[in-house]
Amino acid sequence: MRSQMPIRRTCVVFSVLLFVIGSYGQSEGKVSKEKKLVLEWLSQPEIVEKFGKISDTIWSYAELGMQEFKSSKLLADTLEEAGFTVERGTAGMPTCFVASYGSGKPVIGILGEFDALPMLSQKGRVPVQDPIVDGAPGHGCGHNTMCTAASAAAIAVKQAMDKYGFRGTIKVFGSPAEETLISRPYMIRAGLFDDVDAVIDNHSSSGFGTSYGLGGNAMYSVIFTFKGKTAHGASPWGGRSALDAVDIMNVATNYLREHLFYTYRMHYVIIGGGEAPNVVPDKASVWYYIRNSDDRVEEMYERVLDCAKAGALATGTELAEVRILSAIHQRHANKAAAELFQKNIEFVGMPEWTEEEHAFAKALQKELGQEETGMPTEVGKLSDRGEIFVGGGSSDVGEVTLITPTATIRFPGQVPGAIGHHWSSVACNYGSTAWKGLNAGAKVMAASAIDLLTKPEELKKLRDEFEAYSAEHPYKPFLPEDATPPLDLNKELMEKWRRLLEKDNN
Ligand SMILES: [Zn+2]
Repeated sequence: MRSQMPIRRTCVVFSVLLFVIGSYGQSEGKVSKEKKLVLEWLSQPEIVEKFGKISDTIWSYAELGMQEFKSSKLLADTLEEAGFTVERGTAGMPTCFVASYGSGKPVIGILGEFDALPMLSQKGRVPVQDPIVDGAPGHGCGHNTMCTAASAAAIAVKQAMDKYGFRGTIKVFGSPAEETLISRPYMIRAGLFDDVDAVIDNHSSSGFGTSYGLGGNAMYSVIFTFKGKTAHGASPWGGRSALDAVDIMNVATNYLREHLFYTYRMHYVIIGGGEAPNVVPDKASVWYYIRNSDDRVEEMYERVLDCAKAGALATGTELAEVRILSAIHQRHANKAAAELFQKNIEFVGMPEWTEEEHAFAKALQKELGQEETGMPTEVGKLSDRGEIFVGGGSSDVGEVTLITPTATIRFPGQVPGAIGHHWSSVACNYGSTAWKGLNAGAKVMAASAIDLLTKPEELKKLRDEFEAYSAEHPYKPFLPEDATPPLDLNKELMEKWRRLLEKDNN
């Protein structure tokens, strides 16, 4: 293939390959021909650019969870054009998809997310707060790079399958609404992972690493809606305020905090509380994230539910609806998977950053009052997340870790010190560092998929550990059987912002 390239392009590819292959150093002798092929394929400048541009496009769409129609389509189309069979609208969610290539066992899955966050709009690679559209959504968690990297990795694996003809199936799971932790429990319930032998998860980061063991919190995402009676605000005695019920519920949960085990997290937003002070609101809703460890979260949810009932009782209103949007477990990352990923992370190595990229990182760090260290230069060490558990964030990847061996590759691109779910992360998830970081992440995912597809002894390590763990911890969903995916989530918000963002893009 390369001999047919024009000379100039060959030189560019060769110099990139020198960096990529050269940095593999002494272990080069052990690299299988399949792995070599995926790394070379991903190192081509036109491939780096192709997926970099996809990432930037998804970044500019900035679509909120369950409304990622353009982002999901772009990724699914890219995989289909590359020869994958794509099932769209899976698990009852229009933006969910599964793309498959190959046949038979083993089946290796790669997870991919693409949703943005509300209120974070920001210009790319500008180191001071400067929104594109004030108040619009933005990619403050790097999800624009993630399903993009997963797709690049899977298409690279296809190249190796086509050339060397080994057996097995590679799948990309396009997973909507990760920020609201919605898709995975529904995807599992729909049986999408039933035949999958192992899963490679990924997340954008400032570092390059992986970990194993217990991580993050389990979580219930619940909307409590109260129903009261309207009345004139100046003669309110005939009314029953649903907003009062929300207020009393929130006072009660804030007192509850004192008596929750310290690993908990709990936060809420009032998503409806009336429209004018002179009309007693007959409807009000509050949306809670209720987080704790797997063994504590169900009891915590029951206690928050009691606070909601107290709000209704005190105000003479009705707790009209308790809508569980999602309920998920902690992450239980597979150690053998993480060990395999770590080897490939060390093998691929941290991308080289230009002076301009270090300078941008330092300018952003300065603006945030952080240490001006620039972009990172070293990959991370393998770590056990579960050594001291103090609670924290959640991901619906936790569900997947309980049904098949799974671990997460964190790939670079973000600036160290940039704040998660903040304009500073939006600023650095765009452009050159994001392109290089997602490319490095794709290489590790593709190399790891090759190992799992071509070395049965590697896959067996993951499977044996998983079988032993799941015998002790059988999967039992927290999600109630009658829960359905909240397809209306963010619909109105996104309709409003989409118009303004598209206007700006034109
Ligand atoms: Zn995220």
